Amino acid sequence: MAKAKTVYACTECGAQYPKWAGKCEACGAWNTLAEEVVAAAPTSKRTAARAAGGIAGTTVSLGRVTTADTPRWHTGLDEFDFVLGGGIVPGSMVLVGGEPGIGKSTLLLQVAARLEAAGQPTLYVSGEESALQVRLRADRLAEDASAVSLLTETSLETILATAAQPMAGGQVKCLIVDSIQTVHTELLEGAPGNVGQVRECAARLMRFAKDTSTTVFVIGHVTKGGGIAGPKTLEHIVDTVLYFEGDGTLDHRVLRATKNRFGSVDEIGVFRMVGTGLIPVENPSALFLGDRSAVASGSAVCALMEGTRPVLVEVQALAAKAGFGTPQRVANGIDSRRLALLLAVLDKRGGFSCAQLDVFCNIVGGMRVQEPSVDLAIVAALASSVVDKPLPAQAIFLGELGLGGEVRPVSQVERRLAEAAKLGMTKAFLSDRAIPRRAPGDMQLVGVRTLTDVLQRTVGKDAS
Ligand SMILES: [Zn+2]
Repeated sequence: MAKAKTVYACTECGAQYPKWAGKCEACGAWNTLAEEVVAAAPTSKRTAARAAGGIAGTTVSLGRVTTADTPRWHTGLDEFDFVLGGGIVPGSMVLVGGEPGIGKSTLLLQVAARLEAAGQPTLYVSGEESALQVRLRADRLAEDASAVSLLTETSLETILATAAQPMAGGQVKCLIVDSIQTVHTELLEGAPGNVGQVRECAARLMRFAKDTSTTVFVIGHVTKGGGIAGPKTLEHIVDTVLYFEGDGTLDHRVLRATKNRFGSVDEIGVFRMVGTGLIPVENPSALFLGDRSAVASGSAVCALMEGTRPVLVEVQALAAKAGFGTPQRVANGIDSRRLALLLAVLDKRGGFSCAQLDVFCNIVGGMRVQEPSVDLAIVAALASSVVDKPLPAQAIFLGELGLGGEVRPVSQVERRLAEAAKLGMTKAFLSDRAIPRRAPGDMQLVGVRTLTDVLQRTVGKDAS
């Protein structure tokens, strides 16, 4: 294919240059120039007419727009279907991101096998692994992937041309690209994986998905910073973004929808990684909570709302005598600035000083928590560790903490409490303004107003 005309455009200010440069002269930003295709002169009559002044489109009155829901495809991997908002939407484009080795290829190969078995011809494009490597991976799966069509290719033009052709099972209904960083278009000179290439390839795959009603799954690797390598615009282009969270060394994986045009965001699906692939976990709370029969100090439980469903997580804190120098603050699964703030509140309003202590705080199971409802559990765990006195094992802590040490109510209390009761929790500490009229089961609800209230009832008042 002939090289299209390209320019280098600054992703910050849009200034264009004929050649790549390290710095944008217009706005002064560094490393912001990305290669872009310059649209060719319109050739067909229709595009020429549009360019000349436009041709009228067809309108429809809103009332006549049919709401006929296109039926979704179900893979039978329940957690996967759930995260997508109830199955795969035909013609949508889904980006699956995560660190290398976390299970993205395995999951999508399972999806490919299941779709193929359900009569949706699927093309799996591997730009990273040889056909034999993919075959060996497929052999380990519980699913039978032998009917899935495989293409080892990195040229976008070849991939699109292949996907447009009928496969053995019929017209391709689902295209899986592993990974977007290895694919390149011949229109651009840049190496695969650079900003211009990733953006252009993603945009063309998206167009292909919409034009042909083919569902496109794209795997994207995540950088150290946690974002998908390539431009942020990649996430804007696609319909749905799913992120694999969690520690590669643990045997479970959390798949989170951070964007979804066809469902609610922040839904999570939990899987267990076993020899035969990823297996949906039916009861995530039980997995994250583990055995609560013998609980050490520094452990507290909170019920989070992950999307539309409640999940119980354990917060662990350890406050230990610091060596010399500045005491360490290590936060896993929560924002370190949030931890610093909570330590200050605990010191000033609760009377538990950690100034001379190393503090480690961890959400068990590799979950990442953004909700402030976990505040109360964190400070309770910290205080418990400082005095080395365990908190009540079957209690949950629900509440956001204000700077004045006041405990604020959290949303959807009933659902959180119901989940906690289901998992054998018998006591809940929460804002006295948020106590529901009826407690689930025989759960004891303890209304509290301030941090001091909670600490008095759990680890004793003053320990410093
Ligand atoms: Zn610029």
